[in-house]
Formats: sequence, structure tokens, C-alpha cells
Amino acid sequence: MTSERHSFQLGAFQCKVLSDRTYQGPMDFAKMFPVAPPDQLESALDQYGIDPENITLSFNCFYIDTGQSRILIDTGVGREHEGHFQNHLEAEGITPDSIDHIIFTHGHADHIGGITDAEANLVFPNTKYWMSKPEWDYWQDEANMEHEPPHAIAGAKKNLPLIADQINLIEVEGELLPGISVFNIPGHTIGMMGLLIQSEGQKLIVAADSFHRPFQIEHIDWNAQSDRVPEKAPDSRQKLLQKAVNEDALVLVYHFPHPGLGRVQAQNSTWKWELL
Ligand SMILES: [Zn+2]
Repeated sequence: MTSERHSFQLGAFQCKVLSDRTYQGPMDFAKMFPVAPPDQLESALDQYGIDPENITLSFNCFYIDTGQSRILIDTGVGREHEGHFQNHLEAEGITPDSIDHIIFTHGHADHIGGITDAEANLVFPNTKYWMSKPEWDYWQDEANMEHEPPHAIAGAKKNLPLIADQINLIEVEGELLPGISVFNIPGHTIGMMGLLIQSEGQKLIVAADSFHRPFQIEHIDWNAQSDRVPEKAPDSRQKLLQKAVNEDALVLVYHFPHPGLGRVQAQNSTWKWELL
């Protein structure tokens, strides 16, 4: 079993990438990236040393202790679905009542599910919740559920009503908490947000589900089949990668193999991913 816990320092901030679970097995890349030309997809797999029969997909939740507050960015699928995130927090000595803020990058079940237990009780008693307003509104509109798979609907229906009277909706880009800024990267979902975390000149960008496999960084128009607003996704990837280069920031990608951290280099007219 690969490691699912990784701690590091970002300036004065203590950070941990805690993967909720690890999928190890085959992936149908032609189905996952239907717009990628087959021959180019083939050479991308080669170039990145990816064996389609044995890929690693992680669920990289992020914990930050700024010294002033303890923040979670995304929470995994939840214990009910064999998510390990809460176990990892416990193993790191972080109690649920010590969490001050939970920021959801978007409303998919594998990002929001960890706020409840199997009996649908909220797990973190003292936290404030944050989500972008377009994302929240999307999941409140029953008409949109026709376009969503059952597990996404189940996750939204179980978790979101429980925090409806306390959710903080984000309507503008910018600083949310000291050292924590948000920006819009619609594409995977209508209201997905990225984050820029900074302390003492060190920076990290949370890319959420903008990318599912590293070769997409070189091919920003290769949408994943699960991208719900595909016409916006390439521009959002461009915006995120440009910001990563401009800010000289580390980048954290939720579903890349744990810990999902790397750096982006501008390369001719495209981008290159460098594993940390
Ligand atoms: Zn996801």
C-alpha cells in the first residue's frame, strides 16, 4: 500500500496531504479522455510511463494549520464509502473539533463526503463551511440532477442539506482567510474553485480536479469524460497553469498519485509537469 499521508511546511503553515483512498488498477484511457486523438494519447501514455492496466488514482485532501486556524480543503468520500481521511486526521493527532474551516473546491461526492459519518451526522462540530455560490446553486436545483450519476446525487443529497443553514457562499475571487485565496476554474463542474495558499513567500496552488492525469498539463484541451462544462475547462486549465508559473507555486492535484504535488514549467507554447 502506498503512503497516504505527507507532511511539509509552507512558510509558517504546517501542511498535510492526506489521501482518502487509493485506487490501483486498470483505466480505460480512450473512454476517460474521449477527445484525445488515439495516437497522441498512446504516445502520452508512453512518455509518462503509464501502464493503463495499473494506474494509481489518489484522493488528496489537504490540511493546513496556519497558526491561527486549521483548514481542510476537500474531505474525501466519507467513512461509509471506505474513505480513510478521518482515520488519517486521527493518526496525525488532529481532532474533528479542532477544525475551523472546510473549503470545498466543488460539490462532487468524493470531495464533500467526509463531513458526515455513516449515520449522516456531521463530523466536524466547530467548522465553518465554504463553497462557491454557482457550485452550491447547481446542486440545489433538482433539474440538474438529471445530468448527474447516482453516486454524485447521493453524495449531494446526503451531505449538503445538513450544512445548508451554515454554508458560506463565495461570490468573488480573492483572499478568503489570511494566506488563503480562491479563484474560479469552471470546467470539471460549473463552480469549481482553485486556491492559492501563501506564507512567508512560499506558495501552493490547489488545482482540485482540473487535471486527472499529468499528461493533461501538456494537453490542456484533453477534457476528461467527467468534466461537466467541457467548453470552459481548457481556459480554466490555462488560467491555473499560468498562475502557477507566475507565482512560482507548488501545485497540488487531487487525483494524481499521492501526494499529488509538483511544479509547472512553461515549455514553448505549452506546459510541462515536474513531479516533486
Ligand atoms: Zn474528484
